[in-house]
Amino acid sequence: VKKIVVKVGTSTLTKADGTLNEEFIKSLVVQICELKRRGYDVVLVSSGAVGAGMGRMKFKEKPCNISQKQALAAVGQVSLMHLYEYIFWAYSSGIAQLLLTRGDFSDRKRYLNVRNVCNQLLSWGIVPIINENDPVVADELKVGDNDTLSALVAGLIDADLVIILSDIDGLYDKNPNEFKDAKLINLVQNIDKSILKMAGGEGSKFGTGGMATKLTAAKMANKIGANLIIANGKDSNVLLKILDEIVIGTLFV
Ligand code: ADP
Repeated sequence: VKKIVVKVGTSTLTKADGTLNEEFIKSLVVQICELKRRGYDVVLVSSGAVGAGMGRMKFKEKPCNISQKQALAAVGQVSLMHLYEYIFWAYSSGIAQLLLTRGDFSDRKRYLNVRNVCNQLLSWGIVPIINENDPVVADELKVGDNDTLSALVAGLIDADLVIILSDIDGLYDKNPNEFKDAKLINLVQNIDKSILKMAGGEGSKFGTGGMATKLTAAKMANKIGANLIIANGKDSNVLLKILDEIVIGTLFV
């Protein structure tokens, strides 16, 4: 493994009240910097902009109004990057922001352009932090969720591994919030109908995709030859454990 895409979901980045979980973000940054020290190239796909905007603007609930949601994403994206920049620099690492959308992957010229920029940043030792450009694109022109975006990014940089950090230990055989006897699945070698059935609808209050989009991402990543792991972001040193080949989460090969 040389190139890694790490995706963190809203439910992991924000606290129950919707504000950013700074302690978690710090531990994430420390781990990414350690991976860089070990010679890995890391791209971070980070959600959390709407959540951060809600915290900043003192919204208690995600608004239904689309313009309000997009405006919150615009406010929150700045808070989010401000925090990343502050913490990454404390560990002597630079970051860059790439706000992408579907057209950046479907238009060949744009695709090649983004790929060159991404590779240039990695060769400088900079950690690209990627999010969908939510404030400026309409729904039908979006990738739509950051799980899928992380798989597209994996294709872009020819990654070996995608790590999806969520608020749950991995894929369970049924929704663990509804069924107490749900069992964690450690390895998936074929994402067939029985696996897809396990991923119900939407996930947590602040998350967007739930398990379904994570399975879509796993399928896409596997297709381009990258492994994908879903693991719990709250597990201490989760990224280092994964690269030390300690068995946690759900691995899709
Ligand atoms: P994120 O913000 O990290 O993308 P989501 O909240 O969108 O996370 O998705 C994770 C959630 O999906 C879990 O917290 C859980 O409630 C839900 N879920 C539904 N079905 C399953 C399943 N079979 N295994 C694990 N989680 C599931």
